[in-house]
Amino acid sequence: MSVSLEALFDRIDAKREDLIGLTQDLVRIPSINPPGECYEDCTHYIGERLEKSGFEVTHIRAEGAIGDSDAHPRANVIARWSGIEPGPTVHFNSHIDVVVPGIGWSHDPFAAEIEDGQIYGRGTCDMKGGLAASIIAVEALIELYPELKGNLEISGTADEESGGYGGVAHLSELGYFSPPRVDHVIIPEPLNKDRVCLGHRGVWWAEIETRGRIAHGSMPFLGDCAVRHMGAVLEAFETTLFPSLRQKITTMPVVPDGAKASSLNINSIHGGHPEDIDGLPAPLVADACRMIIDRRFLIEESIDEVKAELFDLLDELKASRTSFDYQIRDLFEVIPTMTDENAPVVQSVARAIETVLHKAPEFVVSPGTYDQKHIARIGLLKDCIAYGPGILDLAHQVDEYVVIEDMLDAAKVMALSAYELITGQE
Ligand SMILES: [Zn+2]
Repeated sequence: MSVSLEALFDRIDAKREDLIGLTQDLVRIPSINPPGECYEDCTHYIGERLEKSGFEVTHIRAEGAIGDSDAHPRANVIARWSGIEPGPTVHFNSHIDVVVPGIGWSHDPFAAEIEDGQIYGRGTCDMKGGLAASIIAVEALIELYPELKGNLEISGTADEESGGYGGVAHLSELGYFSPPRVDHVIIPEPLNKDRVCLGHRGVWWAEIETRGRIAHGSMPFLGDCAVRHMGAVLEAFETTLFPSLRQKITTMPVVPDGAKASSLNINSIHGGHPEDIDGLPAPLVADACRMIIDRRFLIEESIDEVKAELFDLLDELKASRTSFDYQIRDLFEVIPTMTDENAPVVQSVARAIETVLHKAPEFVVSPGTYDQKHIARIGLLKDCIAYGPGILDLAHQVDEYVVIEDMLDAAKVMALSAYELITGQE
């Protein structure tokens, strides 16, 4: 049984209105995270739809996960379609949460308005457009090939934007992302329809605190200002750390180009005592100052080296600067991950891109992390990539949109590659 490209592509094109409506319905459920609004509305919507298409649907709440409460349950849905005989399983995983819209939109962020072939709204690009495309892809595939020997799964999972602990991490712990249940995973994150995303850089979030001694603001010489100590840290970042990070360039194909170097962002600094409601400050020397750093690192660096580099810098300050001391608190860390270019899912999606778009795909690595980390590390499943229709640069932006044509193209790529992974036929 070899695939009929014409029949498959026609079937997907015929579902254009369905795809648009599905995307709009999903975007109109404002599943904002934090705090994790409307997750159950979203998972029930997905579950009911796929049940009608012949999927067996399981709802799993990540009870006890970070952020889980009766007001904001961490709801997840997994739908599985089983073919006439056992065989490989291809799984499409999408996160259902979106970030806050922010201000400055020219479209209502939750109305899913269409203009010039694009659907506007929070989550259109990242990543409800990708989720909708994957649903259409598998529905078209099983309508045309009900005799497939293998299985297709779709999941809608919580909390990717906040680390994925109430979503893919939780389901991975339960075995939902491990062989033999699942063989190949495609995550329709927005990486552009002509790119295969192999993985992501690493992350270390930490808090650095400098300490001082409180005194009267009119006599600062009697105290010790923690903000000035933090100023010395900033100075050392500028003169030593930032230049050295810029020199570290990865062989990973990270996009955009600037992200091929190691990086550190200073997310925030909080120093001294907060001003009162009326805005009048207390005359005090700051006795504490905290900085939150977001360090992104490369597959060539180990997390231990990354931490040691910062500790060394702070220890040098301690040795050279009177009364300087610091504390570091780890907040979050993720090791870089990258799937082999020759892995089956990479190769089959790459071939499908060539067939659908008539161009060679680009292999890329994402600057930020996504749920692949949990599938690789907890699920121990290596055959995993991100591939989806959204345009990477639009994620989390004002007036985010997804191009309808891109969703149709991506759905064709997904359907074709799922067919190949299940049947072994190109
Ligand atoms: Zn995303």
